[in-house]
Amino acid sequence: MHELRSRIICPVDFEKAGKQTGYLRLPFSSDVSAYGWIGIPIAVIKNGTGPTVYLGAGNHGDEYEGQIALVRLIRELDPARVQGRLIVLPATNTPATMNHSRTSPIDGGNLNRSFPGEPDAPDHRPTAAIAYYLANAIIPMCEALLDMHSGGKTLDYVPSALIRRDSKDDAHFKRKLAALRAFGAPIGYIIEGGSPSAGGGSRPVTITALADSLGALTMGTELGGAGTVTRTTLRVAQRGLYNFLTHLGVLEGHPLAAPAPAPEPRLVTVGGPDYYVHAPTRGAFEPAFDLGDEVAAGDLCGWIHQIDEPDAPPREVYFARGGVAFCKRPIVAVERGDCLAHVGTDWAG
Ligand code: CA
Repeated sequence: MHELRSRIICPVDFEKAGKQTGYLRLPFSSDVSAYGWIGIPIAVIKNGTGPTVYLGAGNHGDEYEGQIALVRLIRELDPARVQGRLIVLPATNTPATMNHSRTSPIDGGNLNRSFPGEPDAPDHRPTAAIAYYLANAIIPMCEALLDMHSGGKTLDYVPSALIRRDSKDDAHFKRKLAALRAFGAPIGYIIEGGSPSAGGGSRPVTITALADSLGALTMGTELGGAGTVTRTTLRVAQRGLYNFLTHLGVLEGHPLAAPAPAPEPRLVTVGGPDYYVHAPTRGAFEPAFDLGDEVAAGDLCGWIHQIDEPDAPPREVYFARGGVAFCKRPIVAVERGDCLAHVGTDWAG
């Protein structure tokens, strides 16, 4: 066990039964507060004996379904129903969450590209300090981890849960696959050999990759997005959260009064660059598909118009690969290089 090189002060006792809430205190000296700290909300709900589970949201600050589901869980869950321990962080990158932005307004940090973080991170790099504390103080305590994401303001997803497969072995993957099915999102998304959206490769820069490398049963989500929530996406988020905990044996019985039966997810995978469509130029994007459509290689994805040149033909963009178009950019304004859509292909097993 190495020394924890973090200035974060933790207000909760992880060994105490019951429900505790408070703020991890990250010192932050600024022009408006010389001796101030950033308060990262944390709750610990512990009872009886069972696994320790990390529940996180607000890793990206503009992804809301998990944030709402987790603050509801903190308020509403009776600790007597828990067998084990829940460690809940509903606004993991708190400066980003408070700013309703993907990344931190303080240091531009993208928490989910910042693992394993930085020991002794200075005040002007709070994102690296948060990643380090999670990686070294919190996640090593946890047998399972659920980090709740969505598409944020610039992408929208068919509600999905996702797991990583790092090798073919493997009992660890089979346990994750069973949990993915139990979560019950319409799409179960399996990332093989590194996350393409995180630049590929196996360096564990995301919280799920980091937790996987420590042997935890890990799952992520892409629950919706477009900078908003809907009744449907929130229902999938809350149902999936409770299904996940019940599957792990941490909850005794289902705390939702009348849970809707969860569907068997459609299992898909997302491979290399040809799964993605990016804008070749700036302009106004008119999609030629709806979120969740089946598309074929060569199908039209949409048009990019130059509204100030009405006699110029729009630029047509095409899908390079067929599949289910389960992610779409909801914003008309595009710049060259923006992701417009990606597909998933049915997982072969
Ligand atoms: Ca995200």
